[in-house]
Amino acid sequence: MKINLAKHAGFCFGVKRAISIALASSRTGRKVHMLGDIVHNEDVARQIRKTGVKKITRLAPGKGKILLVRAHGAGIRLLEQASCKGYAIVDATCPMVKEIHRIVIDGESQGYKIIVIGDNKHDEVQGIIGHTKNGAIVIESLQNIPWAKLTKIKKAWVVAQSTQNMEKVAKIVAALKPCFRELKFFNTICRPTRVKQQEIKDMPAKNDVMIIIGSKNSANTRRLYEISNPSITALTG
Ligand code: SF4
Repeated sequence: MKINLAKHAGFCFGVKRAISIALASSRTGRKVHMLGDIVHNEDVARQIRKTGVKKITRLAPGKGKILLVRAHGAGIRLLEQASCKGYAIVDATCPMVKEIHRIVIDGESQGYKIIVIGDNKHDEVQGIIGHTKNGAIVIESLQNIPWAKLTKIKKAWVVAQSTQNMEKVAKIVAALKPCFRELKFFNTICRPTRVKQQEIKDMPAKNDVMIIIGSKNSANTRRLYEISNPSITALTG
């Protein structure tokens, strides 16, 4: 059997960077807490926990401890709370996600309403909302656009979660356009995601079966699975 490995298979630079920051933190000799998993991959999260880094679900007294901010980022208020509790913050937020934070801060300061196309419960989306003062409207799908919430908005500033499906995002943006006097869309789907999505689109035509290896809790893995074809074999874990 011939196996064709996708040219861009493997971790993106943002995940590799977060892992290396986590490992470096674990070697400082200080207690390290991470709020949730550093990246959405069970194996990696397990390996990092083995180095002594503790996963927490809420902030503890942080004096003398490091708080590791995961690749998906975190909201400003949470970081302020962590500082108040005494944590030293080590930020492993992917630079591409930080760029989305910068864009939404900029949009809000110019009086635009922020709209995020993404999964409402995802850590990255929550971190993006956490960089707004007035909150954001999240649109998860074309079928679930919250039209009632949009009626009073004149100027919309739209970003996408970094791992969204470009085709889906384009359809949502097209549906939104006639609703606002002004709409600015920033294609914040990161380059590694775009490249992978393009490659995965082409592969089913050249292969009998597609196998997507990744974590079930990874938005990126799920998206690649959806794009390749819903009927393909997905090997997760
Ligand atoms: S934003 Fe893109 S490059 Fe950064 S961690 Fe997420 S998938 Fe990787």
